[in-house]
Amino acid sequence: MVKITIKDLTFSYRSNRILNDLNVVVNDAEVLSLVGPNGSGKTTLIKCIDRILKPKGSILLEGREIESMSQQEIARQIGYVPQSSSTPLATTVFDTVLMGRRPHITWRVSDADIGKVADTLELLNLQDLSMRDFAQLSGGQKQKVLIARALAQEPAILLLDEPTSNLDMKHQLDVMETISSLVKEKSISAVMAIHDLNLAARFSDNLVMLKNGKVYAAGTPNDLLCERNIRDVYGVEALVMTSLDKPCIVPLRSLNSGVA
Ligand code: ADP
Repeated sequence: MVKITIKDLTFSYRSNRILNDLNVVVNDAEVLSLVGPNGSGKTTLIKCIDRILKPKGSILLEGREIESMSQQEIARQIGYVPQSSSTPLATTVFDTVLMGRRPHITWRVSDADIGKVADTLELLNLQDLSMRDFAQLSGGQKQKVLIARALAQEPAILLLDEPTSNLDMKHQLDVMETISSLVKEKSISAVMAIHDLNLAARFSDNLVMLKNGKVYAAGTPNDLLCERNIRDVYGVEALVMTSLDKPCIVPLRSLNSGVA
């Protein structure tokens, strides 16, 4: 089943066209990664899906035009996970995750909301951190708490902006394994902007490769991550091997201007 359909989406910051006629489909229970060089429009596209930015064109959530939905309805459907480094929160882990219940809370926090937060902390193995200050956690712990906050919303879609940036190898794996198992267990869809092509290859069902605000190609990691596409999109000569049935990219050298 299709979860999100993006049709002819265009976005400009003032007169500066950033996204150009994008068409993207996100399926149920899939991890879809947005890849492409810096400035290609990944974060802008994520913000358009979350209605932080208002693009031209159409975004359908399970067949409904997102433009016609209230902010609260959107918040119930979509959980946004920002980069942990951009989120200074002066509160405990428990209260941070409770903030995710806001679209569901009327005028007071119910026992069900508290229970949902406790369940989510347990699901992500964060219960031992629940009374710690968010600000004092490591980068990997913060990222998982922000995923928990989005999950406590009970969204149908998770949007993640570079969830592994600034994390060491172990925490990158931990966060990506968490996202991919949540997607399968809870049957939600995840759309993430990600720089690391090897992590994207290993944990994504599908990729959308952006170049200069346009979809250069879309498909499975095995179909997309070839030496030619990496050269055309990133201007990098790379060796692409196969490991554990997934493409494994070894960047060799940056090519000079003149790259298509
Ligand atoms: P990516 O996430 O792929 O690195 P972004 O979506 O952040 O790319 O940026 C796409 C383009 O939009 C870049 O050229 C960037 O300079 C521009 N841009 C991003 N945010 C703003 C803004 N607030 N105002 C004007 N231009 C912006």
